[in-house]
Amino acid sequence: MPDPLVHYSISLLISSRVYSVRKSILVALIGNLPDIDVLFGIHRSYTHTLLIPATLFLLGALARYRGYGKVSKFLYVAATLYLTHIVLDMFTGLGPYFWPISNLGIYINVSLAAKWIVSSGLVFIPRVHVVVAPYSPCVCRVFRGLLFNSMSLIIFLSALTVLAVEQAARRRLRSLEQRR
Ligand SMILES: [Zn+2]
Repeated sequence: MPDPLVHYSISLLISSRVYSVRKSILVALIGNLPDIDVLFGIHRSYTHTLLIPATLFLLGALARYRGYGKVSKFLYVAATLYLTHIVLDMFTGLGPYFWPISNLGIYINVSLAAKWIVSSGLVFIPRVHVVVAPYSPCVCRVFRGLLFNSMSLIIFLSALTVLAVEQAARRRLRSLEQRR
């Protein structure tokens, strides 16, 4: 699985498109919700089914139809963050993503390597490996998982840099508008 910090960083970037950075710090935690199953000694369980974001999208549409704009906006954001988590997990392992329609999980492993050969030039080596197989969640008494590593820390710091640059640009734009 992408570690919790990767899920959080991507959720933070997505939610900050809709909410202020302050609100997004909290809202982005929704992107980590599917992994709450770990607390119950089970991982990649039915908290990883696409049924959950689909339900959230439907509730968002219903709230919008009823005129609850803020609730609808929140449900759409929650659905998007939840869906993003599941899609990211598809690139790292099987999960019960299509439950209850199917018990098959999908794992998509892609990579692109490049090789420089002096005599013939640049050669690209793409690799696409898709596994579709029945899935049953792993029940473990002790769960050991990575919370973050150097790569996820880089992703998190990059996300924070993007937000800081955006904030600075917004502030500059506001001050320019006030001067006019
Ligand atoms: Zn997960």
